[in-house]
This record gives sequence, C-alpha cells and structure tokens, in this order.
Amino acid sequence: MSDRTCLDCRGCCDGKWHVHVSPKDILREPALAGMRQPGTRDLGDGYLIIAENRICPFLTWAGCSIYDTRPDGCRAVVQGDSTCNESRGRLGLELIQIGDSVL
Ligand code: SF4
Ligand code: SF4
Repeated sequence: MSDRTCLDCRGCCDGKWHVHVSPKDILREPALAGMRQPGTRDLGDGYLIIAENRICPFLTWAGCSIYDTRPDGCRAVVQGDSTCNESRGRLGLELIQIGDSVL
C-alpha cells in the first residue's frame, strides 16, 4: 500500500488471513515481534501474524502504520501483480494492468 490507489483499496491489508514475519522483518521493525498471537504457526523462516477479522493489525485509515519498515512479504506486492489483483477482485474492484501502475 503506497499511494492514493492503495489507500482507496487497502485490499492486500484488509481481507487477508495472515502476515508473514521473518527474523529479518523483526530486525527492521521490532513492533512485529509483539504481534505474535496464540495459534500462530511457526514456519522455518519465521511465523505468521494472524489477522483478526482478516484485517492486518498495522492497518489504519491513513494506511500502513509501519509502511517504511513493513515486512518483505508486503513489499513484494506491486500494484497490478497477481496478489494485488486477486485482492482487488475479492473486493469487486477493477483490476489493474501492470502498465497502469502509478508506483
Ligand atoms: S491490492 Fe493492490 S491496489 Fe490494493 S492496496 Fe494492495 S497493492 Fe494497492
Ligand atoms: S504490515 Fe502494513 S503493508 Fe503489511 S499487510 Fe499490514 S498494513 Fe498492509
């Protein structure tokens, strides 16, 4: 989530089940360590924050509250990629062609 299009959408932060957090992500953003919740699955390379009600706990009305230090998994999503459009499709929003990206 990075610009007006993302703020109007929020699809990849609102409507997901989990956020993957690795040790590297925690070094960059220590607040992620405090978000581990009961039932969180251990993975070989980190763990998952379970998003209660399918909304990431770091999502605010102004966008991602840890945007500059967000996890790698969040950084990997680019407007118009398959994860983005899957999220937008789930919300009934128009899909983005890669060429339309304003990033
Ligand atoms: S789903 Fe796409 S447009 Fe929506 S917030 Fe995520 S990256 Fe932005
Ligand atoms: S950490 Fe930020 S970018 Fe990642 S899912 Fe949560 S609100 Fe979205």
